[in-house]
Amino acid sequence: MCGIMGVIGRENAVPKLVNGLQHLSYRGYDAAGVAVYNGNTLDIRKTAGTMDRLRDLLEGQPAEGSIGIGHTRWATHGAPTDCNAHPHTDTDGRIAVVHNGIIENERVLRQRLAAEGITFRSQTDTEVVAHLIAKFNRETCDLRCALRKTVEVITGAYALVVMSVDEPDRLYIARKDSPIVIGLGKDAGYVASDIPALLPYTRDILLLEDGDIACLSQDAVNVTNKDGDEVQRPFRRIDWDQEAADKGEHTSFMEKEMDEQPEAAARLLEAPLVQSKIPSRVTFVACGSAYHASLIGKHYLAELAGIPATAEIASEFRYETPLSLDGQMAIAISQSGETVDTLMALRQAKERGADTAAIVNVQDSSIARVAGAVQWMHAGPEIAVATTKGFTTQVLALLRLALDWGRKNDTLRANEVQEWHGSLKELPRLMREVLVKYGNGGLREGAEECGAVPCFARQNIAPRLVFFLGRGLDTATAMEGALKLKEISYQHATAYPAGELKHGPIALIENDVLVVALATQRELLPKTISNIREVKARGARVLALCQQQDEAALANDADEVWTLPNAPDCLMPLLAVLPLQRLAYEVALLRGCSVDKPRNLAKSVTVE
Ligand code: GLU
Repeated sequence: MCGIMGVIGRENAVPKLVNGLQHLSYRGYDAAGVAVYNGNTLDIRKTAGTMDRLRDLLEGQPAEGSIGIGHTRWATHGAPTDCNAHPHTDTDGRIAVVHNGIIENERVLRQRLAAEGITFRSQTDTEVVAHLIAKFNRETCDLRCALRKTVEVITGAYALVVMSVDEPDRLYIARKDSPIVIGLGKDAGYVASDIPALLPYTRDILLLEDGDIACLSQDAVNVTNKDGDEVQRPFRRIDWDQEAADKGEHTSFMEKEMDEQPEAAARLLEAPLVQSKIPSRVTFVACGSAYHASLIGKHYLAELAGIPATAEIASEFRYETPLSLDGQMAIAISQSGETVDTLMALRQAKERGADTAAIVNVQDSSIARVAGAVQWMHAGPEIAVATTKGFTTQVLALLRLALDWGRKNDTLRANEVQEWHGSLKELPRLMREVLVKYGNGGLREGAEECGAVPCFARQNIAPRLVFFLGRGLDTATAMEGALKLKEISYQHATAYPAGELKHGPIALIENDVLVVALATQRELLPKTISNIREVKARGARVLALCQQQDEAALANDADEVWTLPNAPDCLMPLLAVLPLQRLAYEVALLRGCSVDKPRNLAKSVTVE
């Protein structure tokens, strides 16, 4: 969500700003802009729309300067217009600011500043920050001090990068609850919302703590903490390289990341498992796909380790009655480790007495730093907004955790542990098998054959209604399948526990309704088949997913059956989700949607 890039060096910063913003564009945005110091004043170029429009603007009206800041905006306050695009400046145009996050007390601050005679030029909360910094700078003649005073009066979440014509040899950076990283390259200092933007220039990355203010020059960073004391924040070496964050030969990041799932699973299986005391009870906090993973995790903990768990949507958990969680463990799940609702929920769980742990992909992210213990996902960089390998590595991490705790709890016998060991070893191969069968299926221009998924997508490009149904573990997989379809193809879809359908939504089933029925849980198969018959009898078209060994049982009831390799039921979410991801992908392509950057969505959701 939003991208910030700042550069301070000797050469023209504009190409680096544009390049950096391009690397961050996966996060989702609706406007873009840059500001550079031209030796005299600040030159600002900004526009609603894509990075291409910013490039066109810069071509028509070039800007040059060795220090600059850039931004891709995901609008929260005011429409995505040219004038609401960042950077924003104070009245005199001497101070420019880019901001990720939300200033929650924007309205009262705006009124106060307006009463002091300030005229606002945009609807953004960010412009308030520019005017506040200017006001305090007039009083103190010290930009760092002005920024400190500003962060003392604003509430909410922010990463801010500030430049001024009065101090043209440095950038100031402040952060609270929003991501920002700093790097020093060979001959320039850099700041960005995320690591991929800095990888072309440096691998040594410094992360700020909440409340820190950093002063970045061409060759140094100086940090003060929330009390104003100078502090040392360590540089970390990033061990993945730019290539891992590039598309390579794939047509999209999402396609690449879907294909990488077996390797990501294999990597995670080799990785160390987090060590923590075994909880008597677990509360998961997560959002979106990570929430679906937590529903699966809840099932794994009960079945394999005998540990009761609840799965909570983080944005709801934050505001529920804060009962004590003493003696329990709260586990946050987030690919980016920056999902602000999940971060806040984890902090709250800690305050309520829970031990904390997290399942996270991005090292040094905020959630990883708050959690008492971290299980890394080892998915590698995930760039496409809609998660694929992030989801499967989260589920696999949960499965490993449940097996480990089950072994230590003696809820699993030695031979069962041994069997699981064998099944997990097979998993990457099984995933690869499913991807080959239901993967890149020949939809491409001129392809002669049509794979099962693209063919099905063509026949079902715009159903009136889509239901994803499942029972037990399949319910969570159904939820993930429906979410994927909504996210990237903009096709409305609803997931329902199959048994719940007749308590209301079955009223919607008629001809033209598509039902995707997950029937991978063998113990529940007869029940699921009954539910398939119920929707079929009312005219729905049914696609069923089941284990190979159950194909015959479904062949007469479903219009189409996609089979998965036979494996323990607990592994099925990791296999069944693969064709569902691909289905969403193919429908999205057919509908001309931007698969990597769906409208209105952002990769790391850093606002509430
Ligand atoms: N709240 C700011 C705005 O609406 C920043 C949004 C963002 O993070 O991109 O302009």
